[in-house]
Amino acid sequence: MADRHLALVLHDVAPETWPDYAEFVARVDDLARTHGPIPITWLVVPDFHHRSDCRLDDTFLDRMHGRLAAGDELALHGCYHSDDAPPPRTPRDWFMRRFYTWEGEFYALDEHQAADRLDKGIALFRSQAWPLTGFVAPAWLMSEGTRRALAKRDFAYTSDPQHLYTLPDFTPLEAPGLVWSARSAWRRGMSRLVNETQRWRSRQAPLLRLGLHPVDMRHASVREYWLTTLERLLVAGRRPITKRDWIARQHHRESQAA
Ligand SMILES: [Zn+2]
Repeated sequence: MADRHLALVLHDVAPETWPDYAEFVARVDDLARTHGPIPITWLVVPDFHHRSDCRLDDTFLDRMHGRLAAGDELALHGCYHSDDAPPPRTPRDWFMRRFYTWEGEFYALDEHQAADRLDKGIALFRSQAWPLTGFVAPAWLMSEGTRRALAKRDFAYTSDPQHLYTLPDFTPLEAPGLVWSARSAWRRGMSRLVNETQRWRSRQAPLLRLGLHPVDMRHASVREYWLTTLERLLVAGRRPITKRDWIARQHHRESQAA
């Protein structure tokens, strides 16, 4: 297990969702007292659903500054996290944008629109002097225009459910993830099974990502699943790392091999 890592990733981080995460994060910090530092990657949404602007909440900003200072990572996760593009016109688009998710903010944007939203997010990070290396699209959905806009900006990585991609070239690195669909009882039942299978299959993977959502925190069974899984992985010898630091290690290894 010497070189196997785990990344604890909190999605949809905004002033509005902090109350969901507060207790869970306190318990992760408790675990860290026993197991050593557990850095978290926080996927920050600059203005969640146009109603939770990070810049207007000093307590939230202070909290993020504190986490960063303690070794956590802040990454950019969309701009509004809502798909407010014109309605879908094809069955495939309808499936992706209405049935699969309403949150695919970057699914239908052209390059110009995507660039505008990326730049709004970059401006938030700059205004707070937060380092920025990662962009994760809401629901991991990215249009071609988004990919082009992303490649022209100064990001080190992006991701989807199975991979991290180094930027600007989109080189894929295997990095399986566990994620719950906690919206309904049957989805939660399925998720436990799917995640346990994935955890077993991924036991040799160099990086395993735990992708948590605010809705997970509203179900005690899902919250406990995450805490138990995190502790089991730590006990098994996986070392916690931010996505930023894991990507930096890959670059370092490549340059040593060259
Ligand atoms: Zn999200």
